[in-house]
Amino acid sequence: MTDYKIPFTTFHNVINNELTSTATTRHSFCPSNEEALPEVPVSTQEDVDRAVAAAKAAFPAWKKLSQDERAAYLDKFGAALEANKEELTATLGREVGKPPQAAGFEMFLTQGLVQGTAALRLKDEKVIDDEDRTAIVRHVPLGVGVGIVPWNFPLALGVGKMAPALLAGNTFIWKPSPFTPYTSLKIAEIGAKVFPPGVFQALSGDESLGPQLTGHPDVAKVSFTGSVETGKRVMAACAGTLKRVTLELGGNDAAIVCDDVDVDAVVAKIGFLSFVHCGQICMNIKRIYVHENIYDKFLAALVAMVKQFKQGDHEDPEAFFGPVQNKMQHEKLQAFYSQIGKRGWKVALGGEPGAKSGKGFYMPPTIIDNPAEDETIVTDEPFGPIVPVLKWSDEDDVVRRANASKLGLGGSVWSKDVARAQRMAQELESGSIWVNTHFELAPNVPFGGHKESGMGMDWGIVGLQGWCNPQAYWTKHSGA
Ligand code: NAD
Repeated sequence: MTDYKIPFTTFHNVINNELTSTATTRHSFCPSNEEALPEVPVSTQEDVDRAVAAAKAAFPAWKKLSQDERAAYLDKFGAALEANKEELTATLGREVGKPPQAAGFEMFLTQGLVQGTAALRLKDEKVIDDEDRTAIVRHVPLGVGVGIVPWNFPLALGVGKMAPALLAGNTFIWKPSPFTPYTSLKIAEIGAKVFPPGVFQALSGDESLGPQLTGHPDVAKVSFTGSVETGKRVMAACAGTLKRVTLELGGNDAAIVCDDVDVDAVVAKIGFLSFVHCGQICMNIKRIYVHENIYDKFLAALVAMVKQFKQGDHEDPEAFFGPVQNKMQHEKLQAFYSQIGKRGWKVALGGEPGAKSGKGFYMPPTIIDNPAEDETIVTDEPFGPIVPVLKWSDEDDVVRRANASKLGLGGSVWSKDVARAQRMAQELESGSIWVNTHFELAPNVPFGGHKESGMGMDWGIVGLQGWCNPQAYWTKHSGA
């Protein structure tokens, strides 16, 4: 295990299993206290070309390995993560602004993704098999894969691309967000101790790096997670060489609560799922539709629950959530919260924070009481700790309202009458539908969005297939 230990003091690109630096460097900031974090590389076109060439050179040998052999590498990588778990978790907490509990949860999810993906296998499907001929549908890897990752869940979302890409037989280059490059570079450094050169690499950079990768002619696939606007730009760039693309974009998930629920039990879950990681998860519940018969009781219980959540920094073991991740997001949220007064939204908890005082990008957890359906607090994804609670009375109408968004990542229905909840949930237009839960995930279950929440899915067999071209394979048993 000790062979896998790496230092966490300096940060490098990983190209062809070498740790490299760049002439220009940059740094980001700790969101809890705004302190400058260490310098990281700013990759140039030349770094991109070297990494892509190394990935291309490594591909033929890597794809020839069996899935079992590639899975054995992933298992070794999992053990190497374990050896560095404490430092990875602390670095993650510091760069993302996650208190230890939240950073520990992301680390746990990341390790589960490595293990769970290593257990998956792509299987050929024999669709014709008679005396004359066979036809098999198989899945062959694409070549050089690129993963472009946002700042909110940098470790789990990156590994959730890297592990399936590698298991399916591709080589992989990880591009972290400039806001959160640190843990990702360390993950690749750990990978350099495990994988053959060129199989798994990472490049840090500024905003020019993403376009350099999506425009590169030797990249075969881009799996992107981030905002809808950037996702559209990525897809347009990939069209140049018809790269395969998977897009995991924004969400505006609705939870529909029926009037037969145990209010306290459901509030405990929905409060958590709305505010965990300060509302900065694509799959946080972002609209809570509560039946009018229990609306007042539900809202009061939700306010009481959210008041108990402790906000604190990345070193506070008691804290439930921390600050928002960066200055840009903090400013966006301040502008968003300023609509409370201007638009006359009724505040059940929190409200406008006033001018920023002190260090750290903190925002008050806020609940808006029954705003009109066309207010931005309902139509837009704030990506922060602010949630509307809305009243409903008619099943068809509330499903229509839940579906009115141009986004379609996830949606849930909560009821003691499971058949009723299933009937309603099946009408939701989203990539994941849940009954009596939300944000339920597993490495063997695909995950992605409908409508403008994305295209294609990560994880599970569907995710592995997304890292491949399907191939029709015919054999005539005689005639040659
Ligand atoms: P973003 O779109 O600003 O950036 C995401 C990544 O794209 C970053 O690494 C960034 O450097 C890179 N990038 C920026 N411009 C690029 C370009 N032209 N070409 C290629 N790459 C480019 O998103 P963000 O602010 O980092 O993340 C927040 C958003 O991500 C939210 O909308 C959230 O809902 C979404 N998100 C979606 C999922 C999901 O799985 N569906 C998960 C997490 C976050």
